[in-house]
Amino acid sequence: MKRRDFIQIVGITSFYVSAGFGCTADKKKLKNWMWLRGGNDLSDEELKAFYLKMKNKGVYGILPSGGNEFYKRVGKICKEIGLKFHAWRWTMNRAGYMKDHPDWYAVNRNGFSTVEKPPYVNYYRWLCPSKKEVEDAITKDYLELCKIDGLDGVHLDYVRYCDVILPIALQPKYNLVQDHEMAQFDYCYCDTCRTKYKAEYGYDPMDLGDKAEDDEQWRQWRLDQLVKLVNNLANAVHKTGKKISAAVFPTPDIARDLVRQDWEKFRLDAFMPMIYSEDYNGGIEWIADAVKIDAAVLKGKAEFFAGLNLAHVRKYGIQKVIDTCIENGAQGVTFFLGNQFTDEEWQEFKAVADK
Ligand SMILES: [Zn+2]
Repeated sequence: MKRRDFIQIVGITSFYVSAGFGCTADKKKLKNWMWLRGGNDLSDEELKAFYLKMKNKGVYGILPSGGNEFYKRVGKICKEIGLKFHAWRWTMNRAGYMKDHPDWYAVNRNGFSTVEKPPYVNYYRWLCPSKKEVEDAITKDYLELCKIDGLDGVHLDYVRYCDVILPIALQPKYNLVQDHEMAQFDYCYCDTCRTKYKAEYGYDPMDLGDKAEDDEQWRQWRLDQLVKLVNNLANAVHKTGKKISAAVFPTPDIARDLVRQDWEKFRLDAFMPMIYSEDYNGGIEWIADAVKIDAAVLKGKAEFFAGLNLAHVRKYGIQKVIDTCIENGAQGVTFFLGNQFTDEEWQEFKAVADK
């Protein structure tokens, strides 16, 4: 059995030496974030009231999605009320360049780009990370955000390759049994990647066929292409004095195996791993294990907020799930989509934040 199957089926801890984290977190400094959708249709007064409610309930920072004009309004309000604000934007999965630059998009092992055949879902339009033009365009976009007054940082999402393997619980939804890396989900085999790789290693990765999965060198090369892009982007953002954070896959091993995202090497200010238990058939123990692993990896390097899917964790109780994350080494949690809390859940959330 392959390592990733084991991780997904049995759980995580059996694999790793315990990180040995004690309950040392200072709860007075708990920093809890919210990924938020919508708000664009609200007036400035309504938006301010909405954000103020969050702040008063103990929210430290928000990650709203939206356009630059909306973010200007958000920045103004957040600055006024003292709420942290990172602009949430998809990084590698973005359809916006398809018309003018179809050649920027990632190509799978069957030779189809995500413009021609988007994998899994129609909104999967992945860019190739090894193209300089792609890095430049993405950097330009995030630097534009950095000019916004009141914005503390930018937040990267979909900062990875397409899922070569879906989380175990999601495979049946697509009628798939992904017990190996299937050609149509295996990226990137564009001309740029093939040419660059061949110049370095002397062979065309396309010739590997089904054996591509077993070629550690080729696997590592692709991981490194994205690491380089992200770290160049981080440098550019840091020069503006802003922070950079990201939503990443639940643990470094899962991230590398499923989406070729080697986030341990990303030089970011904060990580919000999406510890979405139900996607992996995991419960609260699975969450605790993932938090422990991430805390050990990030300790002393970056801030770490455990990303939680409200729909997956509300059955455990908000207080219990936050306590679990803090006890295992997170500096706070980030809820997707926390604005859907019930009144009782808000009370619990505030009680934990005030403790
Ligand atoms: Zn490529």
